Amino acid sequence: TRQIVLASRPKGTPTTETFRFEEITLPEPKDGEVLLKGLYYSVDPYMRGRMNDAKSYAPPFELDKPIVGGVVAEVIASGSEQFQNGDLVTGRLPWQEQIIASAKGLKKIDASFAPASYYLSILGMTGLTAYFGLISIGKPKEGETVVVSGAAGAVGIVVGQIAKLKGCRVIGIAGSDEKISMLKDEFGFDEGINYKTVDDMKKSIGELCPDGVDIYFDNVGGEISDAVLSHINFQARIPLCGQISVYNNTEVATGPRIQPLLLTKSALMKGFIVGDFESEFGEGMKHLSQWVKEDKLKFTETIVEGFDQLPQAMLDLFTGGNTGKMVVKI
Ligand code: NDP
Repeated sequence: TRQIVLASRPKGTPTTETFRFEEITLPEPKDGEVLLKGLYYSVDPYMRGRMNDAKSYAPPFELDKPIVGGVVAEVIASGSEQFQNGDLVTGRLPWQEQIIASAKGLKKIDASFAPASYYLSILGMTGLTAYFGLISIGKPKEGETVVVSGAAGAVGIVVGQIAKLKGCRVIGIAGSDEKISMLKDEFGFDEGINYKTVDDMKKSIGELCPDGVDIYFDNVGGEISDAVLSHINFQARIPLCGQISVYNNTEVATGPRIQPLLLTKSALMKGFIVGDFESEFGEGMKHLSQWVKEDKLKFTETIVEGFDQLPQAMLDLFTGGNTGKMVVKI
């Protein structure tokens, strides 16, 4: 079977040279193990951080070892009583076409409830990120104004819809006119800003948020966030979810000093990783699945076909190649 390993640690933006394909032979599954055929592979911005040799919440990928990420797979041979051939499972698994995995780290999924790939996003990691970042840190209240950056991506699209369910006014920031139209027409966002074509971001936020910003859900950081933060209200909440605009920087970016602003506005800016809420995942999943079932929470994916396309799909996250969740289908 084929696998994709980390060939080198990227300086700045990764390229396809960052990855290498290898042919390997798998053993038979032992007791407690299963043989899996990968169906859907998740590519996520956080994986960029794991390519660096730097301590973070997730340990770095090892050189010459397979990239590991969220995968939906089918059991094709089982040495475990927990799983039978044909079962669909999800877990953190290596980028291999076929995979031997311990049954312990796998979770069975129900593809009759929602498309199997949704368990990598809205019914999985990115959905939970949106839910807990917004609900537990943002604490949205009816009538408040919520701004979301990275709004047309896997996390952002869900954040905006949950904020609408909570009765907020929602403004999304994304990188194309098509994405902005989609957010408004299909996902119920009130307004949107294309950060690539807007003349003056700060002015535009001011115009679209005449009552100021109560919650800024930050997926991107950098100058977009500088502009939004200049409009925060008294006791604003700022869930710091991602900073994709700086992940490929080789030098530390500088911006305006925002501490005086946070101070005088009594604002809360809080970084988080979804794993902080692990003990509450059941509760989060209950709400997300209920909303999906009732069609109150819609979703979209960019599905790229072919194991060969995994590295490029990962790189395309940094140029906005995806709408909703980026997933690679085999
Ligand atoms: P997305 O589906 O949003 O994909 C990334 C998107 O980011 C692209 O489509 C692109 O959209 C946008 N983008 C890329 N480069 C830039 C840039 N320089 N400036 C502004 N926007 C940019 O990814 P996810 O929804 O999976 O993740 C969103 C963010 O949340 C990421 O920062 C990620 O690291 C973070 N995250 C954090 C988690 C946590 O536990 N804290 C868990 C999961 C994700 P566009 O066309 O709009 O530019």
